[in-house]
Amino acid sequence: MSLVVQKYGGSSLADAESIKRVAHRIVETKKAGNDVCVVVSAMGDTTDDLLDLATQVSPVPPPREMDMLVTAGERMSMALVAMAIADLGHSVRSFTGSQAGVITTPEHGKAKIIDVTPGRITEAIGKKHIVIVAGFQGVSQNTKEITTLGRGGSDTTAVALAAALEADLCEIYTDVDGIFTADPRIVPAAHKIDDVSHDEMLELAASGAKILHLRCVEYARRFNMPIHVRSSFSSKEGTWVRTQDPEGTNHMEEPIIAGVAHDRGEAKITVIGVPDEPGRAAEIFSTIAAAEVNIDMIVQNVSEMDTGRTDISFTLPMGDGRRAVEALMETRDQVGFASIQYDDQIGKLSLVGAGMRTNPGVSATLFKAIADAGINIEMISTSEIRVSVVTRVDDLDEALRAVHSAFGLDSEDGEAVVYGGTGR
Ligand code: ASP
Ligand code: MG
Repeated sequence: MSLVVQKYGGSSLADAESIKRVAHRIVETKKAGNDVCVVVSAMGDTTDDLLDLATQVSPVPPPREMDMLVTAGERMSMALVAMAIADLGHSVRSFTGSQAGVITTPEHGKAKIIDVTPGRITEAIGKKHIVIVAGFQGVSQNTKEITTLGRGGSDTTAVALAAALEADLCEIYTDVDGIFTADPRIVPAAHKIDDVSHDEMLELAASGAKILHLRCVEYARRFNMPIHVRSSFSSKEGTWVRTQDPEGTNHMEEPIIAGVAHDRGEAKITVIGVPDEPGRAAEIFSTIAAAEVNIDMIVQNVSEMDTGRTDISFTLPMGDGRRAVEALMETRDQVGFASIQYDDQIGKLSLVGAGMRTNPGVSATLFKAIADAGINIEMISTSEIRVSVVTRVDDLDEALRAVHSAFGLDSEDGEAVVYGGTGR
């Protein structure tokens, strides 16, 4: 007998019919002889609707009340799914994140899980109940307040619970057949990936692939928890996110490239005319760090202004742009730079693959594909298994298609199916 943790996303729980369909799937898993613990997201666009509602009531709602409000979305789902399962004649118990023992840091809206003490869950599973847990939420150890894990956080709840319960596997049910080599809405020739390592998935998620929450992948990697990402609308095999044993059996067959991710959510700041002397970059980036802004790529160039000066550009989440610019402007006289340029019309493409480590020429193929498409590259950064480039945002889609095709990732039979969701 094995213990399976399943997570169903909002698009799989959009209405009463969908909830009944999901209940059937859960019951099938139980009937196959497994213990089942299910994590649910809020139905459809409920979270967005609740956020909209809050801002209609108050322009800046208190973060504590915001968490009290949005956690209701997952509580609705958990109770409704439990009712549908009870109706199928199976015993079931639903639990909030706090009841399930999801202990977090205190920051409302972006809390991190620090521990999971799933006593009530194990007890309920021991009594042969099917267990349903509200995703995306927990309780702070210090403040005793209800917290949320950030948008898309139910994935993280699922993997954290799976690890704490020592589940055999964590299944993440969504509205596509798995993880694709690129976003099929932009690259129609994208195809489903059968197997991807935790490392590769981490790079893809960090580079903007929306399919799995970044922290969920970090968690899975830390606990070496296999994740099966699959559609709740079909019974097809999805994508396995797992790391083979270090000896690695079949690496001969390992594809060089896992996929191409993109991100339109970043902006670029250029600090122009920075005195080219020790300590200036340190001052700039200490200022950015003090403003609690996470930066991504950095490039330093000889300034166009005059000699003895340099321009420093970096990318950051668009939402942090204003804060970063304001913080930097306050240090202008002290650092001695000339001006600041803010540019939010950029897009980032990231090519990810573990085979890059051992295969020369990956960057050359990437740059050639982008050049042949007549697209200019503005910034480049690399890790061991990733190459990222920044282009104009208007060129991003074409760059994605060109690169996808240049690495032979195009599939002949456009197999990508998006079953539900509004992409909101
Ligand atoms: N309902 C939350 C959201 O929409 C959490 C989740 O879906 O994972 O962000
Ligand atoms: Mg959601």
